[in-house]
Amino acid sequence: MRKIVIGLSWPYANNNLHLGHVASSLPADVLARYHRMVGDRVMFVGGTDCHGNKPADKARARGVRPIDIVNEYDASFREVFNKMSFSLDLYAKTADEEHKKLCKCFFKKMYENGYIVPRSEMRPFCPKCNKFVQDNQIEIICPRCGKITKGDNCDNCGYVPTEKDMENAKCRECGSTCSLRENKVLVFKLSAFKDQLIKYCEESKNNWRINAVSETEKYLKDLLDRDFSRELEWGIDVPIKGFEDKKVYVWYEALLGYVTDTIRICEKTGENWEDFWKSTNPNDRIYMVHGKDNKTFHTIILPAILLSLENGFRLPTHICSSEYLTNKGEKISKTKGGFEALPWINEYNADSLRYYFIANGPESKDSDWSFDLYKTVHNTEVVNKLGNLVSRTLKFKGLETLPNGIVDAQIKEKVAKTFTETAEAIEKMEFKRALASVMELVSEANKYYDEKQPWVAAKADDKTEFNNIIFTCSYVIANLSVLLSPFMPNTAAKIAEFLSLSQTGNWKIVEPKAGVNLNITPLFERIV
Ligand SMILES: [Zn+2]
Ligand SMILES: [Zn+2]
Repeated sequence: MRKIVIGLSWPYANNNLHLGHVASSLPADVLARYHRMVGDRVMFVGGTDCHGNKPADKARARGVRPIDIVNEYDASFREVFNKMSFSLDLYAKTADEEHKKLCKCFFKKMYENGYIVPRSEMRPFCPKCNKFVQDNQIEIICPRCGKITKGDNCDNCGYVPTEKDMENAKCRECGSTCSLRENKVLVFKLSAFKDQLIKYCEESKNNWRINAVSETEKYLKDLLDRDFSRELEWGIDVPIKGFEDKKVYVWYEALLGYVTDTIRICEKTGENWEDFWKSTNPNDRIYMVHGKDNKTFHTIILPAILLSLENGFRLPTHICSSEYLTNKGEKISKTKGGFEALPWINEYNADSLRYYFIANGPESKDSDWSFDLYKTVHNTEVVNKLGNLVSRTLKFKGLETLPNGIVDAQIKEKVAKTFTETAEAIEKMEFKRALASVMELVSEANKYYDEKQPWVAAKADDKTEFNNIIFTCSYVIANLSVLLSPFMPNTAAKIAEFLSLSQTGNWKIVEPKAGVNLNITPLFERIV
């Protein structure tokens, strides 16, 4: 039994989830379901990233508390993951007390180990508000494009202001001109890990998506230290003497959420979380699953945090980063309308959406989404191939119970081969290929059905031939209840029910049971 951690990147409580999120997150659930079926011990973890400026800004604008904003988004994220049948073992929040407490312990350790160090910097200070003003709470004139913009980065041209640009910055809250004043901050010595990270990338890149490798290598060339503390109002307090009034930069703590989730699960199950995060068994795995713009957080920052803890942590072994989901070639983003996930999920079959995003998703290159594309895939592949095989076999006119027969030898061999091929592809994070292999079996069974023409045998009253054909196709269908489980769990369960199979949850060949009653309802509806 392998120990498997699957970390689903934590969505930020700032906007609703869009379809691109769903597409880049689905591989995590496929992995979790598959690994459980082959008998591995899985920790499928994730949660809502709660802290930082953006939820606090929204709360201020609406006159509510930041936690109210967070809870609203958190509820909608959970709804998306639930309705898409994600089988997370724990979906938490970074605002949870348990997470905050555990993070503080880790931060103290990083500080004791000498990787978090104090530094002085000049920051805009508002004389009227009598405080240091956060980057996004100041206004400056962008030196590149000349427009008035916020201090974190220019909304107009993307320019990131330097310390010098902050001179004469205006406080957005009261309009006063700020002066630069010395502020003590904490810095994470990311650059100290450069050599180790280069070696890590080199040694493990065979198990990373290729896009993650190239971006990581680029980033590693110029690895700079990064701020650890921030003048934030909403976040985890820095647990270090003299800095208690500051908050920890969000991504340190959100990334540690994979570890704190595992600890929280193990506290309940009595397992040892270190077996998952400090395993020396090369067969155990730590997968990180996320979208295109999240790669280096998982290939550089998280590994550096784990290294800075100097406590035998294992670094992520498998990096599963997706590309962008696009619409007419343009990236689907939180701000672009019409691509919010929930309305689509509420309108269409979750398994069919899962099918679309696995078969056509942004696995190795950007992939386009539109309703027409989805409709075509749903009608031609999901309904016409999969749905039709099930209904024309099990709902054959006059058939009330499953007849007994002999399974065609070639089909039997194909089923066994499909189990092997699909498993191999999933283990290599090639989900598109994995699902294609299952669908190839469906096509083969449909071809067999067409060639054998059971309606001819039925008309000629050739019972043996007819029973063999139906039983052979039922053999394929029974095994689809296993093979489809990681991809389309609800459909798989429904098929098992049609054939009165008790779903064992094992990745193993099953035999249909002759004589069972057939009460078949349509698996899918055609989209018109
Ligand atoms: Zn600008
Ligand atoms: Zn002010």
